Amino acid sequence: MALRRSKEPVHWSSSRNVKLNKGADIKAQGLSRSYRMGEAEIRAVDDISFSIAAGEFVALLGASGSGKSSLLNLIAGLDTPTAGSVAVAGRDLARMSREELARYRRSTVGMVFQAFNLVPAMTVLENVELPMRFAEVPRELRMDRARASLERVGLGHRLNHRPSELSGGEQQRSSLARALVNSPSLLLADEPTGNLDSRTGGEIMDLIHQINLEGTSILMVTHERPLAERYASRFIFLRDGKLVEDPVPA
Ligand code: ADP
Ligand code: MG
Repeated sequence: MALRRSKEPVHWSSSRNVKLNKGADIKAQGLSRSYRMGEAEIRAVDDISFSIAAGEFVALLGASGSGKSSLLNLIAGLDTPTAGSVAVAGRDLARMSREELARYRRSTVGMVFQAFNLVPAMTVLENVELPMRFAEVPRELRMDRARASLERVGLGHRLNHRPSELSGGEQQRSSLARALVNSPSLLLADEPTGNLDSRTGGEIMDLIHQINLEGTSILMVTHERPLAERYASRFIFLRDGKLVEDPVPA
């Protein structure tokens, strides 16, 4: 497939129902997040500075408890730093108004998690349509877009199933469809294959790779170094909340 790049932030390609976009860059400066637990202070993210270029696919590695999810939450605008700053697509999240931050979370970033985080009582189509309800998109258009997003991840035949009626791989495809429905320029993935067998995990990774080829920047947390090596163009390592040099050179 020939990829067309556009200066516009996003547009639909005519041949396939796939949006190509520009990808967002990330700049973190002295980024920190501490949690206070009684007398103790946990420095989950400890004075981290790094840059990710637009369109990069970066893997974030580190032992459990090293601060990977805390860092992703800061970049997603779900949490605020105790010190330092993070800017995405040139905009400092701390300087955004409440409305701008809401729009940022809805439209600039998409997130997928190890545990899928789908709403159990809703169908797959409703789950994917949900993020657009807050974007004042007309209902018909929401449904069309949700359907297109699900078709894109190969789930066009499961629209009216509930999450419990799907396999783990199908649930993760659904949560990818939900993350992509507003055409984010950055996809944050927190151990997206952690609950999947290796074959299904590979299929999810192929999808994320495809999304990256269409322009979206990817920051993916994983425990699995071989997976990271196969897909990511660069690694970032965390240890005790700090950025460290590659602890095990390839
Ligand atoms: P990882 O995703 O790499 O496993 P986390 O970012 O979840 O690591 O956690 C980093 C550290 O911060 C851990 O020591 C964890 O216990 C602590 N932590 C995470 N979230 C909270 C919280 N809400 N309150 C207190 N401590 C937390
Ligand atoms: Mg985590």
